[in-house]
Amino acid sequence: MEQLYQATLEKWGEEAQYDQAVEECAELIAALKHFRRGKVDQQAVIDELADVTLMLGQLTWMFGADAVEKSVQKKLEKLSRLLESPDQQQEEPEDG
Ligand SMILES: [Mg+2]
Repeated sequence: MEQLYQATLEKWGEEAQYDQAVEECAELIAALKHFRRGKVDQQAVIDELADVTLMLGQLTWMFGADAVEKSVQKKLEKLSRLLESPDQQQEEPEDG
């Protein structure tokens, strides 16, 4: 997989990866909206999820898998704490 990420980066460059990630996220957003309204089937959402999953892999590799994993763990711990506090209202996830 890393060889594919490296080859992709070398062929199209860094900025193109950011643009592609944005585009794929937008396509997933549109697919989810359409799915909710019954305009597309489940497979359309799955296909867009696959595109976004690949882009997340690319970007995670570019930014550093260890750093991303560390951040994921931090956010999972926060989510776990939120779930353990039944009185607490749901909070919007932090951007940072
Ligand atoms: Mg797509």
